[in-house]
Amino acid sequence: MCKTISEYVQSCHECQSRKVSNLKTKAKIEAYPTPSEPFQVWQMNIFGPLVSSNNANTYVFTAVDAFSYFLFAVPLRNNDAISVSQAIFIFFCNFGVCSTVISDQGLEFIGKCTTEVCKMLNVEQEFTPSMMHHCLGRCERTHRTLVERLTPYVLDNKQWEDMLSGIVFSINSCVNSGPKYSAFEIIYGKRQNFPLSPSYIVDFKDIPKDVKTYVENLDARLNIIREFVKLNTLVAQRKMVQTENKNAHELDLTVGDNVYLSREPVGQGRKFQHIYDGPFTVTCLPSAHLFLLKDPTGKRNFRRPVHMNRLKLAHIRVPLPTPYFNLQTDENESSSSKSDNGSSSVDNTENSKSVSNVLTEMKPWIQTWFLNMILQI
Ligand SMILES: [Zn+2]
Repeated sequence: MCKTISEYVQSCHECQSRKVSNLKTKAKIEAYPTPSEPFQVWQMNIFGPLVSSNNANTYVFTAVDAFSYFLFAVPLRNNDAISVSQAIFIFFCNFGVCSTVISDQGLEFIGKCTTEVCKMLNVEQEFTPSMMHHCLGRCERTHRTLVERLTPYVLDNKQWEDMLSGIVFSINSCVNSGPKYSAFEIIYGKRQNFPLSPSYIVDFKDIPKDVKTYVENLDARLNIIREFVKLNTLVAQRKMVQTENKNAHELDLTVGDNVYLSREPVGQGRKFQHIYDGPFTVTCLPSAHLFLLKDPTGKRNFRRPVHMNRLKLAHIRVPLPTPYFNLQTDENESSSSKSDNGSSSVDNTENSKSVSNVLTEMKPWIQTWFLNMILQI
């Protein structure tokens, strides 16, 4: 009886779709493998919206190199597919064609405009699962720095667009904690000069005599820097993975399990909206952290898999063993089953209907006696 009651309460659809669990699902993270050299893999994202600049720009297209953390930024008027694909074209003209670009599943990146540009240039596109911002870590971290450095200008009603190039230069000049080198040094093999940089006395003995020697020296320097970058990045990634995975709480899901999917309520009264949709059924496991879902009601069509962090196990209301309870719930079944999303059993509804028919045919005093008998049992 106690078990039945606790399972009944636990399987309440309203509670499961609104209440926040103390133990949120958190999959173990895996570090993205570091590419072997700069400009092979880029993460792309859109930063904004910001206040409109003099050129009516409100967004910034950002691309961060996965090897060197080099940042490229272009102001945009809109974040629509055409504006973004134009920015991507400018980006390729600056840095050449790369092997892979990683972005979220925003319409501007999955749209035909962008996919065709990438296809034409033989660039592979990879997409992070929806609402999983941590998968675009390099871009997200850079956006945080951009916000910090742009805020004083935006609050002072200064033109943020005028400052953008300077801020991008400063980001590229700073030593990153992961590779322990600045992006500039990893790319060019030397530190950049500033107006206040000390002027060195040139020793002509150290100047290479020809271009070949210069290139050889540069190559040796770059090799040393990049080997250190690979090593430092690996150490930083291991440390980050260890720290993050201490609080991991994974779900052990298999095909056929029922889950609730978190959603981000929007608009007025969002505090009173459900924060989970579902329950949905797991139909496929494309990778350790991704799950393809199916809506048993057929209302929602899942084309792309969702990340484990957005899921929680659904407790589905099992058919009650005692016909008496089914009789009581039968009247509310038609209305509550809609909200319970098919969690009640069809077999049991039929069962309780037959009991209900028998009882309604009885006289009232026999009904009372019959119900008391059941209760005593
Ligand atoms: Zn409830």
